[in-house]
Amino acid sequence: MRVRHKPWAKEKIEQYPQYIVANPEQYKGKWHEVFEKDQPLHIEVGTGKGQFITEMARANPSINYIGIELYDSVIITALERLIDADLPNLRLLNVNAVDLPKYFAKNDVDQVYLNFSDPWPKYRHEKRRLTYKDFLKIYEEILVDGGEIHFKTDNQGLFEYSLMSFSSYGLLLKYVSLDFHNSGYEGNIMTEYEEKFSEQGNRIYRCEVKYQN
Ligand code: SAM
Repeated sequence: MRVRHKPWAKEKIEQYPQYIVANPEQYKGKWHEVFEKDQPLHIEVGTGKGQFITEMARANPSINYIGIELYDSVIITALERLIDADLPNLRLLNVNAVDLPKYFAKNDVDQVYLNFSDPWPKYRHEKRRLTYKDFLKIYEEILVDGGEIHFKTDNQGLFEYSLMSFSSYGLLLKYVSLDFHNSGYEGNIMTEYEEKFSEQGNRIYRCEVKYQN
């Protein structure tokens, strides 16, 4: 994804430590302290501009959510949404997913969402794909036993790769749709990329996979 540099983003992020959590390592093992209510925690890795995670948090007040995004110039839009929405069950983290175990302990997270993750089609970039085996290990290190990953994409190559990666890792494939928008599934909340690509006529793939520990 091409990212437009916004030199003011860092400063604005620092003005809202209650929304984009500053020093997240201090909450490892005690994320409930960040939220009003101690309830299940779902995270979206690669949250982008935050449409999905904001609408999920609005629709599901009995779940806490954290959107995780690498780029400050992208997460700034998610921050602006959260300032407007002021949801007590949503927080953001401006960090790289490779570092998640620095910030979350085993059992801190109940579910992981991956939406329209960057496909990194070149084989030499395989390790950057958020469904690469090293990332599956990272999610396992922070999820509850039997935790789940819910994954959506319009990229057939990435979807096929990810199904193989999940399966080789020993994850149970609970649900697979090769045409999600025509599957009869109710209550789908769309991401920005999902809106854009489905409007262009692209088919949306979705799966739910579960750790068998
Ligand atoms: N999930 C959003 C959606 O569906 O509209 C955004 C999709 S965008 C293609 C993928 C996002 O993942 C980008 O904003 C990118 O910066 C972020 N990302 C990629 N690798 C990441 C990593 N290692 N840690 C955190 N965020 C990452």
